Amino acid sequence: MMSGNENILIMLYALGKSFNLSAPKKFDELRKNFDTEIKNSVAVKPSVFNFCVEAPKKFLVYNTLYNSMAKLTPEEFRKLNGEKFCGKDLRQKFLEAGFCVAATIDEHENYRLWRLESQKRREHLSVNITTTLKCNARCPYCYEHGVKHVDFDETKIDALINFIKRYKKDLPVKLNWFGGEPFLNPKIIDAVTKQLGEAGLEYESFAITNGSMITRQLIERKFKKWNLRGIQITLDGTAEQYAKRKAYVDGQRQVFKKILNRIEWLAEADIHVDIRLNIDRQNMKDILDLVYVLQARFDGNKNVVYYPAFVTGVKNKLSDAEKIAFVKEIFRALANPAKMSINDRLYSFPRSLPCMRNDPQSFSVDVYGRVYNCEHLVGRKEKALGTLKRLPEKINEARLNEPLREECTSCIFLPKCMSGCSSNMRTGDAACMIERYMIPAYMEFMCE
Ligand code: SF4
Ligand code: SF4
Repeated sequence: MMSGNENILIMLYALGKSFNLSAPKKFDELRKNFDTEIKNSVAVKPSVFNFCVEAPKKFLVYNTLYNSMAKLTPEEFRKLNGEKFCGKDLRQKFLEAGFCVAATIDEHENYRLWRLESQKRREHLSVNITTTLKCNARCPYCYEHGVKHVDFDETKIDALINFIKRYKKDLPVKLNWFGGEPFLNPKIIDAVTKQLGEAGLEYESFAITNGSMITRQLIERKFKKWNLRGIQITLDGTAEQYAKRKAYVDGQRQVFKKILNRIEWLAEADIHVDIRLNIDRQNMKDILDLVYVLQARFDGNKNVVYYPAFVTGVKNKLSDAEKIAFVKEIFRALANPAKMSINDRLYSFPRSLPCMRNDPQSFSVDVYGRVYNCEHLVGRKEKALGTLKRLPEKINEARLNEPLREECTSCIFLPKCMSGCSSNMRTGDAACMIERYMIPAYMEFMCE
């Protein structure tokens, strides 16, 4: 049995007793309350957040809220679910890991109260900056179809700096360079980071890029200046499939090979690289070939990891079962499953918000200086929350109060997903975040 996030469990018990979680010095008191409660709990019930996978002669149970995991015999599993008498010692272990909770605890309600508390404590200001809407690739699934391909309006830089100052308060700042292809317009990144430096504002930055514009010069001369810590690069398959899907318009050749080299340079410069594996029914076989290529090249490289992402808005969508089965195939192909950052998914802190769309400290800014709650909306005026100069406070507050969709209220994966991606839904796909597929796939893989 692996213990998970005990602090969450302790806080959930405390919320049932209306403890004030804002007073950190009280944590010892909360722990004492938890210890007493579980010691005295005779009437217990299985947690509503237990996700179970059955294999011959064993069950693997993972709790999505407390992050604990256990391999149980069929008999222990029946005891967990109250189908068989459970002795005091085993009951105590289940309670300590959160697989069982006191019968009086309403986990859904207490988790809701915990989210409200957590939302008061934001950790940083996060701003996605669209340096340009131009792109040198033509991915068929791009959500920016129909927007005008223009660069960031330089006259809006002062407003952007003031916006960051206004919303930063005493929080650290995280910038995310975004596009189009953000490195088609490095001039804007230079100008923004220079002004932030002159204003004495500390920040760190990240980028979402296709990787094709990265050069050694850019890494050596600029990335350090921009305090660039991490990069996300999408790959859609090996050389031929990649070239076909990206359809670069600037005549670059052998881009796939070049990108792999660039990933290596980035890792050497100690920049973390997340490779997003974009998957749909058309490229599944090739993605497995790609996993072998990446494994041969980056298996021992701690700065390079991969993660699966299912392309949305396509015809002939994959079902949930197909997605899980395919992610399991990837785990089988990998020599080291940690390369898919599975530990980060399993042991992540429960979400209090799904993503930036509900986070009042998180914004996307487009090339015209308009502000959005989702990076997929940039360039679409009618979807903007406001502008860098004028952002109605009420709109921003309202982001926190979006109700959960009905199917999410009782979902076991709620702590990992929190109602998912509304952009996926707009394209007619499931909103569920990738954890909904990665966790079952990994657990099934572990049971093989
Ligand atoms: S709604 Fe989806 S695309 Fe938009 S910010 Fe959230 S996760 Fe990202
Ligand atoms: S979007 Fe999907 S995985 Fe996420 S909470 Fe809702 S039903 Fe569960």
